[in-house]
Amino acid sequence: MSDTFVLSPALDAEISEAAELLLRASRVVALTGAGLSVESGIPPFRGPGGLWTKYGEPPMDGYQRFLADPAEAWRERLNPTASWAKGLIETLGQAKPNLGHEAMVGLEEIGVLRATITQNVDDLHRQAGSQSLLEIHGNHAMLRCMECHQRFDPAEVEVDPDALPPHCKLCRGIVKGDTVQFGEPIPPDVLRACYAAVQGCDCMLVVGTSATVYPAAEFPLEVLRGGGSLIEVNPYESELTPVASVSLRGPGGAILERLLHHARARQPYEATG
Ligand SMILES: [Zn+2]
Repeated sequence: MSDTFVLSPALDAEISEAAELLLRASRVVALTGAGLSVESGIPPFRGPGGLWTKYGEPPMDGYQRFLADPAEAWRERLNPTASWAKGLIETLGQAKPNLGHEAMVGLEEIGVLRATITQNVDDLHRQAGSQSLLEIHGNHAMLRCMECHQRFDPAEVEVDPDALPPHCKLCRGIVKGDTVQFGEPIPPDVLRACYAAVQGCDCMLVVGTSATVYPAAEFPLEVLRGGGSLIEVNPYESELTPVASVSLRGPGGAILERLLHHARARQPYEATG
């Protein structure tokens, strides 16, 4: 999509205006969602061409099932049989960060972007190199202790197929996949960190999400209540469009790359942070 996308002068002027807002703000936080990863080959979950339209929906009681039989849930994780699970693993395994993820790392590097809250579990912000990242729905490539909430790289956890589920090396709690499943509460430490990031935020860059799902839906509203502004990057109009200071319509990759360009050009100093 971004290969054929032509930036109109009108849109470029809006992107320039957004860059000005970013530089004027004292604390910019980004909120990202599924729309950012579409250009990485990850379709949305629902709708035409959606992952779950294609492979079938995961059970809505996934977390309850895990609690009822963690060993069985782990056997399914190690040797998935459900087509939605196989489809998800294959799709996420092939995905690579796109220009949008990379531009957000650039905004972080020049000291403009302080933190990124993502609803995506696809690991692409991390692969791109984002440093200050809050994965509110977890990360499919990581594991987490259900007791102490410590997150682990899978290589750090000993998984014995004959003694499932694996246990936390710190507190002996049961370890599960880090992705927050249907019915599972968001880990309290991540949620607290998100609210702390949003509290001091006076400009939120909302990318690829209409932020209608709680708790992410709260974050842009909280910024507005505090007198801050919103910049929206989304191919489609959303619930946030009427309240955003600038709404940038188009593919996230091309727009964010241009936003980084304008931010760099307007930055008065070389120094970052
Ligand atoms: Zn633990």
